[in-house]
Amino acid sequence: MARTFLDSLAQRMLRAGTQLADCSWPWAGRLWHERLELDDTLSLWADQTPPSPVRAPLRGGVTADLEIIGGGFTGTSTAYAVSRRWPERRVVLLEAATLGNGASGRNGGLMLNRVNGCESVDADTAAQIDRLTRAGIDALCARIARHALPVDHRRDGTVTVYTSAERAEAAHAAVEADNRIGIPTRFLNSAELRRQLAVEQGCGAVLDPGTGQINGLQLVRAMAPLLERQGVQIYERTPVVKVQEGQPLLLTTPQGEVRADSIVLATNGYTGALGYFRDALFPLHSHLLATAALTVEQRQQLGWHGLAGFSDDLDRISYASMTNGGHLVFGGGSNQAYSYLFNNRTRYPGGMSPRAQASLQETLRRHFPGSAELPVVQRWVGTLGMTFDRRPLIGVRGERRNIYYALGYSGHGVTLANLAGEILCDLYAGDDSRWRGLPFVQGHYARIPPEPLRWAGYQLVTRLTGQSPRLPQPSGGKRAD
Ligand SMILES: Cc1cc2nc3c(=O)[nH]c(=O)nc-3n(C[C@H](O)[C@H](O)[C@H](O)COP(=O)(O)OP(=O)(O)OC[C@H]3O[C@@H](n4cnc5c(N)ncnc54)[C@H](O)[C@@H]3O)c2cc1C
Repeated sequence: MARTFLDSLAQRMLRAGTQLADCSWPWAGRLWHERLELDDTLSLWADQTPPSPVRAPLRGGVTADLEIIGGGFTGTSTAYAVSRRWPERRVVLLEAATLGNGASGRNGGLMLNRVNGCESVDADTAAQIDRLTRAGIDALCARIARHALPVDHRRDGTVTVYTSAERAEAAHAAVEADNRIGIPTRFLNSAELRRQLAVEQGCGAVLDPGTGQINGLQLVRAMAPLLERQGVQIYERTPVVKVQEGQPLLLTTPQGEVRADSIVLATNGYTGALGYFRDALFPLHSHLLATAALTVEQRQQLGWHGLAGFSDDLDRISYASMTNGGHLVFGGGSNQAYSYLFNNRTRYPGGMSPRAQASLQETLRRHFPGSAELPVVQRWVGTLGMTFDRRPLIGVRGERRNIYYALGYSGHGVTLANLAGEILCDLYAGDDSRWRGLPFVQGHYARIPPEPLRWAGYQLVTRLTGQSPRLPQPSGGKRAD
């Protein structure tokens, strides 16, 4: 009863927040300015990626047909698609830190289907999204194979674990409905689940075949020489500090400038500092840990018998994956494991939070009681780009329709940000026929209020409800142009 009351109170507050956003952004936008703050990647993925030379920063002026800001999955997949389709075009990629330094090199490694924020779409659209993301994973793995990229990955499936009998039953019914429209998921009852993954509170699970795990940092770093062979110019340690719109656009960096006919915002959770999507996105910091490489025996004792990973069905989602080498990567699971910092700060001070790490270990113990003794070898934090309704934003904007963007994937971007390159390449070619009608392409977004309402609202909702602020049904909102 109290729970329902608090949830509906939180929902009313969030709706009021979107209305407040409409009237407060015009003046608050001038009061608050965001700054790009970065630190260097620290993660299990970095430990397992051989060092590579950092490319020189941009010095002086260059011109480009297409300039990409950000060297994560979105930036590299777009550079790949565009330079393959038009080898003669000048594509320049500027990365503020080093390639893969953002979410792409710090995530939980789960390579998943479907798109966050699209849970309420009609059956045809759901089937279309499932087909696209499934094809997205195929294309990514084909790219790795075609170019023999040294990227550790596996595709033996992941599960969503349901932690109440009622929700497991509902998930079972949903799987049957999904199977009727061609989505090949499979329901596992609790005994079947335990044979794969003995998650303590698992009452059932949905197995998604063909999904898996990937070392994102290895992927991005392995892409760099390939992109250069395709003619892409890459500059690292080169933050874009200003974008002046026009034809051409003028981009300023600390020691140089780029004149470009078109640009791509591939900056995800860091985008606000460029002045774009400040009312649409907020950076959320997710804390993770990784264990030492577990022997097959240790994995059996833990209860991890198969599968690449899992997430649970709770709002403060727990997510975990297992590398081929036996490292367990774990994140989320509580309010403490996620942080929003005042005024969209993009760097978590100190690199990690002891409180968050204690909470992670506690949640991991809840899922796998046998994990208490496992040695933890790496702890880190990464910056997610979140929208208010969790729907990503992909499209083109600006008076001259020359600013392309793909961002706001929340915790579900490994597949979609790698597919984003193909989508943006088609939009750049002026052909959106493959993607038309998808709710996250050229869509609307719900506005998030500015500071100090944003920070106060986040604290209030997370403390009242134990959940993250999220509008349940994407509805109308502002057009992203
Ligand atoms: C902790 C964590 C766990 C996650 N787990 C999963 C998961 O298990 N499965 C899943 O599907 N998704 C997961 N995600 C989400 C997924 O990793 C992201 O959606 C995806 O990596 C986004 O890629 P991107 O290239 O758009 O952004 P990023 O990888 O963040 O790249 C943006 C880049 O832009 C650069 N940049 C920013 N501003 C500028 C500027 N002004 N000038 C130049 N460069 C700039 C940054 O330095 C950064 O390198 C997770 C994310 C995090 C943070």
